[in-house]
Amino acid sequence: MNIIVLFGPPGSGKGTQAKILANKFNLEHISTGDLFRYNIKNNTKLGEEAQSYIHNGNLVPDELTTEMLIDELQRNSTKKGFILDGYPRTESQAESLDELLNNLFQTKVDVTLALYVEDEVLVKRILKRSEESGRTDDADESIIRNRIKEYYEKTAVVSNYYKEQNKLVELDGDGNIDEITAALSKEIEKFV
Ligand code: AMP
Repeated sequence: MNIIVLFGPPGSGKGTQAKILANKFNLEHISTGDLFRYNIKNNTKLGEEAQSYIHNGNLVPDELTTEMLIDELQRNSTKKGFILDGYPRTESQAESLDELLNNLFQTKVDVTLALYVEDEVLVKRILKRSEESGRTDDADESIIRNRIKEYYEKTAVVSNYYKEQNKLVELDGDGNIDEITAALSKEIEKFV
């Protein structure tokens, strides 16, 4: 089973690339952001618990997020592998991921592909995306900036976690979508 982690700040293109790559390599795309939005839309208890964090651009607590991920991994346990988009976002989530991949599938993360894009480009991209996404957390610049702040304060350290294990590949995320897909594909092909 392949486990590919797509990593980067909000607006770096993880979601766009994850969809393309999941299709191309026949992997299951898991976006924790999409899962939360699905729960909010369907008024589930989880959606209710997560809503205010997401609305304000803060991370949802690790426990809620990891329980949701476990359910999703178990539901797709027959799949050939996963592309994770938006998880792990804290060091504790990265540790939980290792533990649960080992417990559920006796497997490990193959590689973490990190996309880097400058902050001002991120803000512009997300504001533009808000015209179509309808996401309240995309439409307000102060919420976007808080999401980027959360990334630097809590998520950026996750890259060190994978770097220490020689599992981090860093790529420029500011460019043409097809070129970035090609660069990411080259890395994934080493494992699938
Ligand atoms: P995204 O769609 O990946 O931009 O995620 C949207 C929002 O969902 C984030 O701003 C967080 O509030 C929440 N979220 C998604 N994934 C996680 C995660 N792994 N840990 C905590 N919060 C998350």
